[in-house]
Amino acid sequence: MGEVNNKGRGEFELIGWIKEQVESCSRMPSGIGDDCAIDQLPSDQQLLTSNDLLIEDIHFNRAWTSMFDLGRKSVAVNLSDIAAMGGKPRSLYLGLGRSQQLEETELKDFIRGFLYEARQHDVVLAGGDTCGSPGPLMISVTVQGLVPTGKAVMRQGSGCGDALYVSGTLGDSALALHLLRAGQMPPVPLAQRFHTPSARIDLGRLVGEQELATAMLDVSDGLLADLNHLLVASGVGAELILSALPLSEAFRSALGQNPSLIDLALAGGEDYELLFSSARHDLEQMALPAPGVVKVGHIRAGTGINIRQDNGDIYHCRQRGFDHFAAS
Ligand code: ADP
Ligand code: MG
Repeated sequence: MGEVNNKGRGEFELIGWIKEQVESCSRMPSGIGDDCAIDQLPSDQQLLTSNDLLIEDIHFNRAWTSMFDLGRKSVAVNLSDIAAMGGKPRSLYLGLGRSQQLEETELKDFIRGFLYEARQHDVVLAGGDTCGSPGPLMISVTVQGLVPTGKAVMRQGSGCGDALYVSGTLGDSALALHLLRAGQMPPVPLAQRFHTPSARIDLGRLVGEQELATAMLDVSDGLLADLNHLLVASGVGAELILSALPLSEAFRSALGQNPSLIDLALAGGEDYELLFSSARHDLEQMALPAPGVVKVGHIRAGTGINIRQDNGDIYHCRQRGFDHFAAS
């Protein structure tokens, strides 16, 4: 397309290199190289599709994150959306707006990390688009997954009396970011949760297959914000038990020095854990895929979230923007 085509020779070479990497590391045929990828879907499954956009200096800071880890994370945060529906991820599409500051070796490290994370879950990079960008690095990732027809778990469906469960631990990633912003090195377990989160695929699939949840989503914007999405979609309210929030050892140790850090577990974001409501109250005792779940409260009639302290008082989260979720 001559002048209007801003794809240079470098881009074509890069696409060729990406195709080679995909084919040498995947059991599935790559869709890269034609105008479209072709996929044959089983007739008893529904297709899940989700997209995430990551922009340099908004969603990531290259001074803090290696390009390999950034590649891994761009996959993980997308796979987390498939996990949140109870699905099995299948293919990825990668749109790259390549900033001029980015060296080719850095871009290749990004792709290596991207493919590493995809391989962990048997997901293939099936296509994308690559273009030079005059601005920051932009990464657009689309993920597709499959779920048995009728088994997808939505945000809507929570009923009064349902228990609320969260997987893993909360606040680790936000605490790592908090420390990085303060110029401190976060302890390794926290840094790992920030740089290389894991999508809870196995847990999400089991919850979906066994119909354990009435509604589910992944915690990406912080527990309160995401719980609020679930509550609004379902037309109900919730009680959270502050002392029940699942916290890692590293988080608890920081909390011992500064109790207000609890707000990072409530509203920090980037946890990529699963949050779901369930009519069953015994799931803590059930053998579930790692990292398992903890009961953090229950669904009630009405609207909003009450965070209950052990003495019965309501706790007000001071993290900006979230206090208005408290019920009046
Ligand atoms: P078109 O001009 O038809 O859009 P492109 O030259 O952009 O074709 O892409 C050629 C092939 O390379 C397509 O199959 C496309 O999906 C794939 N591709 C381009 N960029 C990427 C990328 N960043 N990651 C994976 N596949 C890519
Ligand atoms: Mg294209």
